[in-house]
Amino acid sequence: MSDVKLKEELVAAQMLDVKELADTIVEIGFECTKCGACCKGDDGEHTATIFPSEIRKVQKVEEMEWRDVARPMPFGIVENENGELVGETFEWALQVNGCGNCSFYREINGEGICGIYGFKPLICETYPFSVDLGGSNKPKGEIVEKVGEIVVHECEGIGREIDYEEAMRLAKILKERTIREIKESMNVIEKYRNSETKKSGLIVHDSEGAKDRNGKII
Ligand code: SF4
Ligand code: SF4
Repeated sequence: MSDVKLKEELVAAQMLDVKELADTIVEIGFECTKCGACCKGDDGEHTATIFPSEIRKVQKVEEMEWRDVARPMPFGIVENENGELVGETFEWALQVNGCGNCSFYREINGEGICGIYGFKPLICETYPFSVDLGGSNKPKGEIVEKVGEIVVHECEGIGREIDYEEAMRLAKILKERTIREIKESMNVIEKYRNSETKKSGLIVHDSEGAKDRNGKII
């Protein structure tokens, strides 16, 4: 990921037209059916990115420890012979339960419910949409279709009628998320380059520096 590319992408993200995004969302159509598919691990473990400030927000409201909210993004992490997690990774994923589902996911009367609905991460707020500006900040996960700059991920609620007010709400958050993701990536790269940690074991590089699994700078 080059710095120049990310800077160009940031400018493009800041110039995204919310009304155009909303028009595209109306054209695609969406209503959440509460099926819960985007909160479950499916065949493996659920991996949705949560940013450090988002983790702290959940911690504060739920009075939880960092490691109960988030886990190191599992890519690059392995279990050693003593059963300890070791390796270096970038950023955090929502914590999962024994079934691989997001640990905040609940099912009540057959409906999927988010246990942190009012303060869930931006990635969850905007699912099944993300923005692809054609640069290095590529949307993760399976892509179903792309309409304009909006990428649509797998979701049974796609194609359902959405009112304009809700589409505008989603479009605003989608723009905010796109800008935020690029800024986080820029900060992760900068902090990683300047990282002087000599620690071994488990290291998570995020937008604030090198941390242990409890979110403490090391
Ligand atoms: S997959 Fe789509 S319909 Fe199902 S819970 Fe997620 S957003 Fe809602
Ligand atoms: S935080 Fe909420 S919306 Fe996001 S994956 Fe977990 S249960 Fe689903």
